[in-house]
Amino acid sequence: MAGKVYLVGSGPGTLGLLSCRGAEVIRRADVILYDQLPGDEILGSLPETAERIDCGKYGSDHTKEQLEIERLIVEHARAGRIVVRLKGGDPFMFGRGGEELEAVRRAGIPVEVVPGITSAIAVPASVGIPLTHRRYTSQVTVVTGHEDPSKQESAINWAGLAPGTGTIVVLMGVKNLAQIADILILHGRDPATPVAVIERGLRRDQRVTVGPLDRIAVLSKERGVRPPAVIVIGGVVELYDPDHPILTPPEGSTNLL
Ligand code: SAH
Repeated sequence: MAGKVYLVGSGPGTLGLLSCRGAEVIRRADVILYDQLPGDEILGSLPETAERIDCGKYGSDHTKEQLEIERLIVEHARAGRIVVRLKGGDPFMFGRGGEELEAVRRAGIPVEVVPGITSAIAVPASVGIPLTHRRYTSQVTVVTGHEDPSKQESAINWAGLAPGTGTIVVLMGVKNLAQIADILILHGRDPATPVAVIERGLRRDQRVTVGPLDRIAVLSKERGVRPPAVIVIGGVVELYDPDHPILTPPEGSTNLL
């Protein structure tokens, strides 16, 4: 008899923000296939009764890696096991969770998706940046900064995003921050628009860098900003107040696992 697959979002990386349902299925799992993004606190608490498989280890060929992960999920479930595929944030916010769902469905295996709190929302929230606010904007867009925006047929409509005041949240954007800022300014975003780069959100060593759109890339470089980081572009960043910091408990909160 086939087992079952749970596609579980870990939340932004602290046990306190993993969902109760997520913790429940993790406790019952026979096999847990995990990425590194959930972070040490969650990965260090995974039950030893489960076989734990690090999916970050299949080398630098990401397509092969992805197919191998999908193959493993299906293979373990076909052997009758309860398989948890644990991904950072929400399983369907980038990170190829949708492809894994398709693979499991193609194999005819029962599947449940356990949503997670995406870093796109949780990381800004935890430092006191609301993504919408009546005084600033009623629109928010989440994009990947993974591909160089200056390259021709970009999958993202930067020219459409640039005008106006809508908040732009960029995941995977550290490497291309300079090009992203340039293209937004080129297409009409105010160069003085405040930007926050939040590294390692909700971890003990979290760090926030704030600056105007036309200077944020230089500032980030000076400070040696590294992934993972969430970048927030928009007037709402004015609400960031380093004198009244952290509203959400970082690592070290409740453990349901
Ligand atoms: N599915 C995930 C996103 C996967 S893409 C989610 O919903 O959060 C990976 C990117 O997410 C990273 O490059 C970074 O931009 C962001 N990210 C995830 N967790 C983060 C954290 N704790 N702090 C800062 N950025 C984070």
